Amino acid sequence: MPNKKLLEKYAKLTVQIGVNVQRDQMVVVRATTENTAFVRAITKEAYLAGAKRVQVQWSDDYVSRTGLEHMAVETLEEVPEWVVAQSQHFIDEGACFISVTSPIPGLNKGVDPQKMQRAGKAMMTKLSFVQQYVMGNNTQWTVVAAPNTVWAEKVFPDLTGDAAEEALWQAILKACRIETDNDPVNDWKMHNQTLAKHNAILNDLQFKALHFKNGLGTDITIELVENHVWAGGQEHTTKGVVFNPNLPTEETFTMPHKFGVNGKVVATKPLNYQGNLIENFWLDFKDGKVVDFDAEKEKDTLRNLIEFDAGSCYLGEIALISHDSPISNSGILFLNTLFDENASCHMALGRAYPMNVEGGTGMSQEALEKLGYNQSMAHSDFMFGSADLSVEGIKKDGTRMTIFANGNFVI
Ligand code: ZN
Ligand code: ZN
Repeated sequence: MPNKKLLEKYAKLTVQIGVNVQRDQMVVVRATTENTAFVRAITKEAYLAGAKRVQVQWSDDYVSRTGLEHMAVETLEEVPEWVVAQSQHFIDEGACFISVTSPIPGLNKGVDPQKMQRAGKAMMTKLSFVQQYVMGNNTQWTVVAAPNTVWAEKVFPDLTGDAAEEALWQAILKACRIETDNDPVNDWKMHNQTLAKHNAILNDLQFKALHFKNGLGTDITIELVENHVWAGGQEHTTKGVVFNPNLPTEETFTMPHKFGVNGKVVATKPLNYQGNLIENFWLDFKDGKVVDFDAEKEKDTLRNLIEFDAGSCYLGEIALISHDSPISNSGILFLNTLFDENASCHMALGRAYPMNVEGGTGMSQEALEKLGYNQSMAHSDFMFGSADLSVEGIKKDGTRMTIFANGNFVI
């Protein structure tokens, strides 16, 4: 556990830059029992920022796992009405949402993946209105992470127990630009400005497609939707409140055309899905759809993701990050998308973000789909950036422009 002052700084960053709590706003915190001290600090900072009420929704991953093991799948698929009503209440109150993730790698090993799939799907179907409300930026939301021992020991295999957890805390704080002698809230305001500049350049260029190539075998062309918006860093709610959906974030990302992806992509980092680690995998796309794939480890888990629903075999996001970035330079594989996705160029299978197309947040799903938007209940990022990655932007007239050379932005 970091000292009290650092923990307070992280909590303050989450509250002020992450969700930017407004006076008299309700705050919903979703967290696991792994991180009680951090959640208590968040609660205090939220009230100091003027929150009307802070509602913490605790869960315990070990309890959840035992439930998955013992409950009948039919019971797991029942989503009680009060769960739906509670979420509706949060929306009616205009609450903002903080998620403190602390995934426990390998926890669900041995649980029938089909069972997990059905349980997850039932919950997501019933609560898809919340997801659409939040993902449509109708309110502020943020995802931050905090360690647990199991995760920490996986990241730092030479350390055990508290020592491993402490090392992961230090790595997370560093990735979030939290130091003993700085003001992270102020530093993040500056970092957000830098990201905004990059978005502006790419938005002006409005490439028709991007072509990615490296020595590992990635050779893929990704068409972008018309009037796409490059985003990253700070976002705005539909009411104009600024917030940072992810802490940390280094990415500049936009919306691929659902049916405009062709070629092969080779992942450069493992993907953690349903508590399982998919390693050394590649995907082959034709007209947007995954038509072939393989993985050295957890191929079935990868198949579960691809076959999760009708949209999970299509892309919903393409993100650019210089290989020379703070998280990449740390050399640490966090085994967690929130961090690892900020170390490397990535794409996501599944749902796209409406904000990545002009006027998208106000559009119906039907209107979005006409533009090439992909709808899915899944959204899984995987990394494919490398030190030798080249990216070319292809303009509408067919001319090409180098935007990445040797893994880094050159524009
Ligand atoms: Zn991303
Ligand atoms: Zn993503």
